[in-house]
Amino acid sequence: MKGTVYKSTGSWYTVKSQQGDFYQCRIKGKFRIGGIKSTNPVAVGDQVVFKVETKGDETIGVIHKIEPRDNYIIRKSVNLSKQTHIIAANIDVAFLLVTLNNPPTFTTFIDRFLITAEAYHVKAVLLFNKVDTYNKEELLEVKYLAALYRDIGYECIGISAKTGKNVDKVKVLMQDKVSLFSGHSGTGKSTLVNAIEPTLDLKTAEISQQHQQGQHTTTFAEMHDLSFGAQIIDTPGIRGFGVVEIDKEELGDYFPEFFERKQDCKFNNCLHVNEPQCAIKEALENQEIAWSRYKSYLQILEGEDEGYRKDIYKK
Ligand code: GDP
Ligand code: ZN
Repeated sequence: MKGTVYKSTGSWYTVKSQQGDFYQCRIKGKFRIGGIKSTNPVAVGDQVVFKVETKGDETIGVIHKIEPRDNYIIRKSVNLSKQTHIIAANIDVAFLLVTLNNPPTFTTFIDRFLITAEAYHVKAVLLFNKVDTYNKEELLEVKYLAALYRDIGYECIGISAKTGKNVDKVKVLMQDKVSLFSGHSGTGKSTLVNAIEPTLDLKTAEISQQHQQGQHTTTFAEMHDLSFGAQIIDTPGIRGFGVVEIDKEELGDYFPEFFERKQDCKFNNCLHVNEPQCAIKEALENQEIAWSRYKSYLQILEGEDEGYRKDIYKK
């Protein structure tokens, strides 16, 4: 039988078959997927092949194959073991909730999120939440930011999880897809999910409130079916994604507006910093590329974002 992994405890996996029935499954043998070594071979979102076995009055499934993944998110353990934990796989859309203040979401944080999504082939959408609280000036800032990111190809929606404004547009993007919500604590993830599906009670909020530095309990994601034909992956404690293991030469490829111009740089290995005849710096001077984006690029290039290297997407 074929199915999708909805929940994992590390030793047991809840799998939903294509017929819509849930099975408790175990893994048979050892799995090594795509050459990565991880603490958990099977992750939420994985498409698996399993066999149902009946022993007495007990029915269990045995997973013997994992289909190739479109993408996956991993978390690297920060302690000495440096182990990799796959949080979730096969994500269709990653939404980032952005608020101007209360709490502030800086463009560098947005950019890190987008770069990682690019690097690992996950579609990213920016949701500018709490528009009901903004004054004229702040609304202009949202408009500016949304235009900046739309220009380089990212979908942006101004929403209010509280009043419900544009929540229907978010639901349209979620239709028939697997979604994941990220954002700083307090940006409104739980409020939004509650507006989307009032009966769903996610872990996101409570864990991010308890979040303490240094605490390193393994967190397991869980997939939920929503009433309108969509799935959501609940990933406790994950607020953003850092940039991990992207080579300096590769970094510019994950900025779409850099990527489309780099063939005009004099050097084909141009890092767009001190090189002469750099198309990126020219575009910057001509205000075709935003300074905030270039600033994020330099920060990541110079490795000033060590603190963020915990949660990542990986293809
Ligand atoms: P989370 O930590 O990302 O899950 O954020 P919460 O959903 O817990 O929201 C944090 C606070 O912001 C709560 O007090 C919410 O009521 C409030 N909030 C969330 N979305 C909105 C919104 O669109 N407008 C307003 N005014 N408040 C919001
Ligand atoms: Zn260049």
